[in-house]
Amino acid sequence: AEADAPQELTDGFHLVIDALKLNGIETIYGVPGIPITDLGRMAQAEGIRVVSFRHEQNAGNAAAIAGFLTKKPGVCLTVSAPGFLNGLTALANATTNCFPMILISGSSEREIVDLQQGDYEEMDQLAIAKPLCKAAFRVLHAEDIGIGVARAIRAAVSGRPGGVYLDLPAKLFSQVLDAAKGERSLVKVIDPAPAQLPAPSAVKRAMDLLKSAKRPLIVLGKGAAYAQADDEIRQFVEKSGIPYIPMSMAKGLLPDNHPLSAGAARSTVLKDSDVVVLVGARLNWLLSHGKGKQWGEPGSKKFIQIDIEPKEMDSNVEIAAPLVGDIGSVVSALLAGIDSSWPGVPAEWTETIKAKKDANISKMAAKLGKNSSPMCFHTALGALKQVIKERPDAILVNEGANTLDLARGIIDMYQPRKRLDVGTWGVMGIGMGFAIAAAIETGKPVLAVEGDSAFGFSGMEVETICRYNLPVCIVIFNNNGIYRGTDMDPTGRDPGTTVFVKDSRYDKMMEAFGGVGVHVTTPDELKRAVDEAMDSGRPTLINAVIDPAAGSESGNIGSLNPQSVVVRK
Ligand code: ADP
Ligand code: MG
Repeated sequence: AEADAPQELTDGFHLVIDALKLNGIETIYGVPGIPITDLGRMAQAEGIRVVSFRHEQNAGNAAAIAGFLTKKPGVCLTVSAPGFLNGLTALANATTNCFPMILISGSSEREIVDLQQGDYEEMDQLAIAKPLCKAAFRVLHAEDIGIGVARAIRAAVSGRPGGVYLDLPAKLFSQVLDAAKGERSLVKVIDPAPAQLPAPSAVKRAMDLLKSAKRPLIVLGKGAAYAQADDEIRQFVEKSGIPYIPMSMAKGLLPDNHPLSAGAARSTVLKDSDVVVLVGARLNWLLSHGKGKQWGEPGSKKFIQIDIEPKEMDSNVEIAAPLVGDIGSVVSALLAGIDSSWPGVPAEWTETIKAKKDANISKMAAKLGKNSSPMCFHTALGALKQVIKERPDAILVNEGANTLDLARGIIDMYQPRKRLDVGTWGVMGIGMGFAIAAAIETGKPVLAVEGDSAFGFSGMEVETICRYNLPVCIVIFNNNGIYRGTDMDPTGRDPGTTVFVKDSRYDKMMEAFGGVGVHVTTPDELKRAVDEAMDSGRPTLINAVIDPAAGSESGNIGSLNPQSVVVRK
């Protein structure tokens, strides 16, 4: 009889997968284990790309940068307690950087966790995640999975993007539901990141100020890169004729060799500008909080700030003209104001900048061209600068101290969202996670330029790169240590605290997993090896020997090191 016919069923596993797919989530980055092993397997079977890492922090970093590149939340899947905590570092970093990401972690049973009875990997994960991300949710019933995933997605991408934690207790996955009822419970998020238009009065205030400027400057931040309003931003710069500087991950939004780029005259324009338009860039430590010596005479500056987050305004200094809204909408509104009434930019200002820029560029060029052995940072980066010039659609991942600071200045970028680096925290360890997600999300070749120390934080993922056969070329700037390879233990007992095994061969790590390893000692060899890797698309690691004495303490930010006034004998 009909009543005896088997009912069509679904369960928690399938509802999570269906909810993600319904919302266009095509990739999951994670590490399998109890209780989410089967979730990963089933997701793969259902057509989601599941990329399994060796450590959750790297999977989390991959998810975060996938979010930055696509404006869809990157998803990271982990096991409970320790796996969750490993992923949480990446979630906090994503939130700090305003990258949309969802960390989904399995957890142990509420009944036991809440009574602290000692479950397998017991931990109150929701409570721990909350202060470190934008929003955190837990789903206890299978019929709430649809709404839980929807809330997570909207929270991640709307307004200021950020990290969201979604807690899924083990029991949830096997909860069974009538299939039709399950399907009805799913929610497709409509307009997940709605446009937010600035008030006309705010636009007028900003335009009036901008028109009064004698020495205007635009600062493009990674929020501008994230917004994917590339055409509007380019038109705003070009039609207004206002010089701009890019923050590091905004490089390439307009090509670094653009005539209006003031990147090579950065200190001059920060000091001497009178009206500064911040486009998706915060006045945090990376911009000296908008005050102090770097910004010239006190009171000499007026700021116009474009940001989707109202609370960002006046965070460090007074913002004379706040423009709260999404960058696409706000820049379009400003663009409409660059009409026949626009006075243009005084030639005196643009000529001053050009002179400074030309001088700095030729000074730098002199340091780059040599084919030295051993290499220093400049000569090695000179070779890589040429690589990116010839392959502007390649993605550059960059971390380290000197390796980061010098590459940022030396390697020009030509296209938006091609430079991915240590971001707001200046964190080490993003390298392999970012490189893997960049290759997967864009299909473009990836060049990861890594200090030997920075690489160590995620180096085991070279196995992942080989396993998925990704077009990633890693270049390790190997100077035998952190900052330099020359520190000694004053007592003579151990190696110095900042040095590694001398003359390590990181290229052998790649060979262990079937990738290509190359050892180079000159810029010519380096250039040739990178070209070969990028032509072949094969996973490659190039051990680039850098003079161990090259490199300065903490790169450009040595001044942040506290100094001891006590001298002990
Ligand atoms: P950078 O480090 O490059 O200076 P920040 O991360 O400090 O950049 O600043 C990025 C800013 O961009 C954040 O304040 C964030 O709120 C803002 N933002 C991100 N996406 C958008 C968007 N679509 N529209 C407007 N502002 C945005
Ligand atoms: Mg080093």
